[in-house]
Amino acid sequence: MGGCRTNCPEKISLLDRPREECGVFGIYAPGHDVAQLSYYGLYALQHRGQESAGIAVADGTKIQLYKGMGLVPEVFSGNQLQSLPGFAAIGHVRYSTTGASHPVNAQPLLFRYSGGMLGLAHNGNITNVTELRSQLLTNGSVFQSSTDSEVIVNIIARSAQNNLMDGLIKSMIDVRGSYSLVIITENQLLAMRDPHGFRPLCLGTLGDGGYVVASESCALDTVGATFLRDVQPGEIVVIDKNGLESIQMFKPRHRSHCIFEYIYFARPDSKIDGFNVYKVRQEMGRVLAAEYPVDADIVISVPDSGTTAARGFAEAAGIPFEEGLMKNRYIGRTFIQPTQDMRELGVRLKLNPVREVLNGKRVVMVDDSIVRGTTSNKLVNMLRDCGVREVHMCLSSPPITNSCYYGIDTSNKKELIAAQKSLDEIRRSIGADGLHYLSLEGLLGIFGETRNNFCTACFDGHYPVEVPQPRDTGKYSLE
Ligand code: AMP
Repeated sequence: MGGCRTNCPEKISLLDRPREECGVFGIYAPGHDVAQLSYYGLYALQHRGQESAGIAVADGTKIQLYKGMGLVPEVFSGNQLQSLPGFAAIGHVRYSTTGASHPVNAQPLLFRYSGGMLGLAHNGNITNVTELRSQLLTNGSVFQSSTDSEVIVNIIARSAQNNLMDGLIKSMIDVRGSYSLVIITENQLLAMRDPHGFRPLCLGTLGDGGYVVASESCALDTVGATFLRDVQPGEIVVIDKNGLESIQMFKPRHRSHCIFEYIYFARPDSKIDGFNVYKVRQEMGRVLAAEYPVDADIVISVPDSGTTAARGFAEAAGIPFEEGLMKNRYIGRTFIQPTQDMRELGVRLKLNPVREVLNGKRVVMVDDSIVRGTTSNKLVNMLRDCGVREVHMCLSSPPITNSCYYGIDTSNKKELIAAQKSLDEIRRSIGADGLHYLSLEGLLGIFGETRNNFCTACFDGHYPVEVPQPRDTGKYSLE
């Protein structure tokens, strides 16, 4: 799990589709150990990416970077943090999926341009990356990685000359798709969120002139920062010795916050765009119970992602909540295993049923989502082996029928069970007695008058920003 200073150049295929489901963290705090605080911040964001981690620190004259493959404590297992002194820093954790799992794609990226040094960390997916990359290649840019993020860096560097803001503005005009960015120069911290606000990004204060920016507010809590507000869609925030300046570049276009952050991706203790994730999940469970009245003995969850909704369901339905499945805390997310066989074994490694809780019962099992159907099928079989009489599978999301192009790995459409099968076929294929997905209407109703502020493309195919073709496979190449 070794790390490296600078960019670890190794051979990569540009055909690898980069997946940018990540966590970003930024801090400007003279007088604090910013590398150490970034480490804690990234630790809090570890659920957003387990493939690689990195921290870049600015000290007024230069930026130093350390990054590597693995979990945050694996990458920073030695005394690397001590050799990163400075007063501003950015950090990144990258999501692990098949393909493009390569040290060269680890972030932050570090570059030198005409105005000095620049470090950048990105969460999101650029939808016009193919077009932008070929324009840049024609104009003489060179690329070291297959990440979208390097395209942004190139646009910034080419347009910045001696004024970084020009570069950021140009990149916001040219780049389409999702991006929550943290950037450092030798003496500034900057944050920028795309005009639709797909991916989360929030701002906090340390109270003594120090500021923190993070993908999720749980990272602010961890480093002792107080939540100020979300970075607005289309906003650029600049933090330096003069304090904080906000430039609202674009009026927020049609807001398209990713609704899947609330369903699965974010931590329940985070507050994103005005809504606490825990409260939203609890409400999802309550709505689910109202939509699917069922006679059952117990409600169980698929831990951890289904637990909050399961509790909401149990409370609303008046059915006791039980811990029917135990999770091995030392296993990561099974979804990320590269082959189907490994994925299936992964479910068994991760979750084990408690026979004494389940035997002879009619069970409602709540999970956040079904993607390929592997997890649900394995779990239903496990429950049957424990003598469960009925299994009702309830999902706190509508059926996922479309690929995501804005930064969540919902896999390609051919693999999405709900894109290929009817409700009853899915029920039969996972082996459940009953199956209910939260309705889109029920889900959006939770957000009240802001119900139109979300991207729901994975459920209804309405893509707020044009997506790469061919749309039906969910795969595109960088060539
Ligand atoms: P599957 O077995 O393919 O149906 O995947 C469903 C499981 O994967 C559920 O338990 C979800 O919690 C989890 N999941 C859903 N979406 C994602 C994602 N984008 N990345 C990782 N895991 C996911």
